[in-house]
Amino acid sequence: MRKYQTSNLFEQDIEETPCRYVIRVAFESAADTEFDYAVPDQIWPVDVGQRVEAPFGRNNKLHIGFCVDIDKSRPDPSAPLRSAQDDNKRYKLKKITKIIDKEPLVDAELMELARWISNYYVCPLGQVLAAIVPSAVKRGAGVKTQTYAYLTIKAADIDKTIHELRGKKQKLIVSFLQEQKALNKDSAIELQGLLKTADCGKEPVKRLTEKRIVKISQKTILKSLPAIPNEMALKPPERIVLNRDQQKTLDSIKEKIDSGRFGVTLLYGVTDSGKTELYIRAIKAVLKKGKSAIVLLPEIALTAQTVQRFSERFEKIAVMHSGLTAAQRNVQWQKIKSSQADVVIGARSAVFAPLANLGLIVVDEEHESSYKQDTAPRYHGRDVAIKRAQLADAHCILGSATPSLETLANCQSKKHFNLLRLPQRVMNLPMPEMKLVDMRQSNITQKGINLISEPLAERLKVTLERKEQAILLLNRRGYSNFVFCPSCRYTLRCRNCDVTLTFHRSNIPRRDRMSTITGRHMHSGYAICHYCLAQTLVPEKCPLCGKGFAMIGLGSQRLEEELAKKFPTARVSRIDSDSMAGKDYYRMLRDFGQGRIDILAGTQMLAKGLHFPNVTLVGIISADTCLYLPDFRANERTFQLISQVAGRTGRSTKKGIVFVQTFLPEQQAIAYALKGDFDGFIKEELKHRKSCNLPPYWRLAAVTMRDMNFEKLEAACKQMRQKIDRIVAREKLKVNIRGPMPAAINRIQRFHRMQIIIQAPEAATIQRLFTGLRAEPPVRPAVKVVIDIDPVNLL
Ligand code: ADP
Ligand code: ZN
Repeated sequence: MRKYQTSNLFEQDIEETPCRYVIRVAFESAADTEFDYAVPDQIWPVDVGQRVEAPFGRNNKLHIGFCVDIDKSRPDPSAPLRSAQDDNKRYKLKKITKIIDKEPLVDAELMELARWISNYYVCPLGQVLAAIVPSAVKRGAGVKTQTYAYLTIKAADIDKTIHELRGKKQKLIVSFLQEQKALNKDSAIELQGLLKTADCGKEPVKRLTEKRIVKISQKTILKSLPAIPNEMALKPPERIVLNRDQQKTLDSIKEKIDSGRFGVTLLYGVTDSGKTELYIRAIKAVLKKGKSAIVLLPEIALTAQTVQRFSERFEKIAVMHSGLTAAQRNVQWQKIKSSQADVVIGARSAVFAPLANLGLIVVDEEHESSYKQDTAPRYHGRDVAIKRAQLADAHCILGSATPSLETLANCQSKKHFNLLRLPQRVMNLPMPEMKLVDMRQSNITQKGINLISEPLAERLKVTLERKEQAILLLNRRGYSNFVFCPSCRYTLRCRNCDVTLTFHRSNIPRRDRMSTITGRHMHSGYAICHYCLAQTLVPEKCPLCGKGFAMIGLGSQRLEEELAKKFPTARVSRIDSDSMAGKDYYRMLRDFGQGRIDILAGTQMLAKGLHFPNVTLVGIISADTCLYLPDFRANERTFQLISQVAGRTGRSTKKGIVFVQTFLPEQQAIAYALKGDFDGFIKEELKHRKSCNLPPYWRLAAVTMRDMNFEKLEAACKQMRQKIDRIVAREKLKVNIRGPMPAAINRIQRFHRMQIIIQAPEAATIQRLFTGLRAEPPVRPAVKVVIDIDPVNLL
């Protein structure tokens, strides 16, 4: 067993010990490179994936980083031991001071995945590794360290030793340990308990260790496993016999699993078509082969119900989501790491679960944009899942009722992608009634608009009287704005596309409004076509009637106020995923499930939580809010939202009704969704994406830069653009570059934000561009730069 010593101890020792080994370390906090360090022989060996402590930077402050590589060329095993001084002269390397982990936290496969993420998503390796291992694990949350004493002498010598010892307490301690050894084969006794039984202080033990009769060691033990909160109890499952579609699909998936080769299956089936049942069966097939599986779900879908459904079917299961305490998370992770779990169910980051021998990854609701992480590393959970499956020669199942265009396109163009369909709902539940409300008919004033239309308010009243419950969905972001003339109802539209333009409130100070980029006066601000990315200036007055425009903002706070005014006695709660911690959120869902809340208002993510039998009314406050976001995926999202709600309600005997409020009733996404015509929608949408060089045909990357000083920001952006242009010319890359231009939200807090958007026909082209950019010195003047590859929105 290796001994771990404190860094203080080492500082003396290191000067004398030779340092024949060299490792490469990636720090979380440091720049986009890794650093070489010498390892004193005394603490060797170090493994890739272990964390080490090392002096870093000019002041040699001790930092913790991951060992990411070992220089195999040194030392030469046949070479004589050199002295540390020789080594230092030769390598001039700083030295590791400590090894933190007993075992690597990241195995070879995950290390390879981390490197891929670092390359693909343009993120320093140290930051990727930091994200791969939960902080609860690194902190050792819920872990107790216990100190043990044990005998180091041979059994035959014990009696003699006891006889020779002079101290009474020393004799006593050795005999206790001997008894323990007779009972347990292992003499180790927990130190505090031992001292108590022997009724003495530490002194006698210390003596014994000096005489090398007793040794002290530390063991870390996890606190007893805290149970996962079990919120909504479910009945035990009845025996399910697969229907024909399901059986055919399962056979096909099993065949892939049996092949032992990497492949991806898109399981495209409406809600309640029995996809989850198939995931479970596929996992069973994988476990039978002695392999393990990961199931990824969007955070919101990880309700106790879902967790329980899997727990009922698998014995060794671990759960990872934000509703767990740090200690629980660590326990779950350790359980996985020590192979006590072979099925992991969790949110996005569970894709990094340290499972060995992975056979299957399931990504449910694969189209969900919440799989994209919006802080560095900005990875997409689905795409990382596919990569991990590839590295492990595992199979990957992507499930959705409304698959992403990316995945559909992959099924057409890539041979290891395979599309399977489940066209029918298992139990033929009735679809809920869908009601379209044309919001243009409602009262609009210069101040804004009522978020709850007359018909919806009417129905809410009835629902409350019947003691039933309602869910109101509002778009996640509160700042979606669009320009609307209250008197003549004119809206600004794109000259290229038949869509309403999004207004970007101009918070740039007046003196800055004469943009150095466009050289034009910005009037009241920019409007951007989220669809083709064209921008226009917004006139101050309506061109038709000459009156002032109204800016319509739809925020969740406004909704809450309106509800309080109209339904003062109703119990209303708001779930706001931006501001809410996981635990609160689970609690609120539970309260709602138990009838302590009448109206639950929240983001569209709630659409996935609609398993509540007493919910008979769902209102989509504005089906088109996402249509006003500067986001070319807006149509896709709108379609997904409406069909999701349609699929989720009507799960009980009480008939459900859905109100879809919209300003754009003629919008194709809305019309297709109300008809439930996904294929029709996809056909239209793909045509458009192709003509605009947008994903899934072309790839995107967004470089967003921010600073408090607008001039400085513009200068840095210009320099960034020049750098990009130089690399593009040098490497002869085929790309479209737009910008720098103000980002959709052009000011956050006091930071101005600008964007450069890169479009390329191949992911590899974008990779080459950023590899080039990473090799260059940073832009001057220095401003904050965020690089987002395959962005899910362009805010
Ligand atoms: P999805 O994941 O596509 O929404 P699920 O697998 O959750 O569908 O199935 C919906 C419901 O139907 C679940 O309650 C499930 O237990 C049940 N179910 C699935 N397959 C069958 C089947 N073949 N026969 C009866 N019930 C089934
Ligand atoms: Zn347009």
